[in-house]
Amino acid sequence: MGTPHPLPFLRAYPETVQLQVQALIQQERLASWLLSRYPKAHGIRTDGALYAYVMALKNEYMRHADGISKVAFDSKIHVVNHALGMHSTISRVQGSKLKSKHEIKLAAMFKDTPPEFLRMITVHELAHLRWRDHDRAFYQLCEHMAPDYHQLEFDVRVYLTHLELTGQRLWAASPTPPQHPTA
Ligand SMILES: [Zn+2]
Repeated sequence: MGTPHPLPFLRAYPETVQLQVQALIQQERLASWLLSRYPKAHGIRTDGALYAYVMALKNEYMRHADGISKVAFDSKIHVVNHALGMHSTISRVQGSKLKSKHEIKLAAMFKDTPPEFLRMITVHELAHLRWRDHDRAFYQLCEHMAPDYHQLEFDVRVYLTHLELTGQRLWAASPTPPQHPTA
């Protein structure tokens, strides 16, 4: 038995689940486990295409929520602090009304992921238009938009674990060399 790898992205899950992931890591089967579950990338490559994707989901499930002025992939979002995406609200007075402007940014790693992972993070950020905290109402809304939300968030966290260990994006359009932090 080797030393278990710490699994910072999976801390909230039961120990039995964490041990299963540990076993896959030790057998070097984590990548193939992910790829067999999710063989294909979603193919959305630009902020314009991402905006259209997010708005289609919003119009289907959250038509009455505030509008979204901007959607983008952002390479400055670092997933290490559990921030997979970010949303910001800018309020300004327009005439006599207070208008809110929402922006959604997704970590750039979501460019190279399966459609299910993009749906998970989009649903998560859309749910924040209505609920600020990760409470029960928030997760109910996530499940309304993606019935398998909890499984998807787990699988995304398994992929983050893989990325942290190897630096290799599994669904990259063109293979990138492993990136190791140099600082
Ligand atoms: Zn959140």
